[in-house]
Amino acid sequence: MSMQNRSNRRQFLKTALTAAGGVALLGSCQSWGSSPTDKRSARWAFMADTHIPADPENNYRGFYPYRNLEQVVGQVAADPPEGAIIAGDLARLEGLPGDYANARKLLTPLTEKRPVCVALGNHDNRENFLAAFTNPGGSQQDVRGKHVVVVDAGPVQLVVLDSLLFTNKVPGLLGQAQRNWLRQYLQASSDKPTMLFFHHTLGDGDGDLLDAPRLFDIVQPAPNVKALVFGHSHAYSYGQFEGIHLINLPASGYNFNDAQPVGWVEAQLTATGGHFICHAVGGNTEIDGQVKTLKWRT
Ligand SMILES: [Zn+2]
Repeated sequence: MSMQNRSNRRQFLKTALTAAGGVALLGSCQSWGSSPTDKRSARWAFMADTHIPADPENNYRGFYPYRNLEQVVGQVAADPPEGAIIAGDLARLEGLPGDYANARKLLTPLTEKRPVCVALGNHDNRENFLAAFTNPGGSQQDVRGKHVVVVDAGPVQLVVLDSLLFTNKVPGLLGQAQRNWLRQYLQASSDKPTMLFFHHTLGDGDGDLLDAPRLFDIVQPAPNVKALVFGHSHAYSYGQFEGIHLINLPASGYNFNDAQPVGWVEAQLTATGGHFICHAVGGNTEIDGQVKTLKWRT
């Protein structure tokens, strides 16, 4: 190996490690650019329905949400991605200060290194959450009565919305102020592929996102919106609306039936799509490691 090659190799390693923040590299090393902002791939952890109780021994259907999040965070932090998003129901049922104190403690291995954003759900309490989690993990948006955060994640943009309507009642609502903000934001933002995160499912039941049809009216004509990501059902599934991917994340706290995994999803995101790897720590662990590959609509 010539001096020139050695020096190039050293420089490459240095650049790659800087870009990766010292963590394991994703995919082909060739895809990494010279700085974190222009690299072509981003790796994030997606979670939902952690349901962290004030009492660590609290359990449901044999699942201990406290222990499960401990295990999930251990897996995520062992090879830290660039950040994490939790799609709602961080707290057990009523969004108590003790729930959030435990959630904050369990998430510390991640929050001390990486941004962590939370889309509030129907078992969260906005005031208690904001008192415990003072770092929004991204750029906090000024939307009346709602906790909205935007993250520039390199090849993609992540928009974290708030569908909490009433704590400990099932349905959700984005509401007019947040919908108006979203419409304007999507019109004004770049054409960077955008994923929207919120808690509630998009069916027409009384416990779903009540303004889902109005959300569809906003995202359908916004070409940069590529995927809607949510929790609430505690069921892991993929669907589509007008070419927009609908990703229903598994719960990390507990499932409602044995066919469903309990865990999290590792997302490897690019400007043209993503790979989504299911990491199951409980429930149906047969799909642990399963990879779903999506292409963004054009
Ligand atoms: Zn839930």
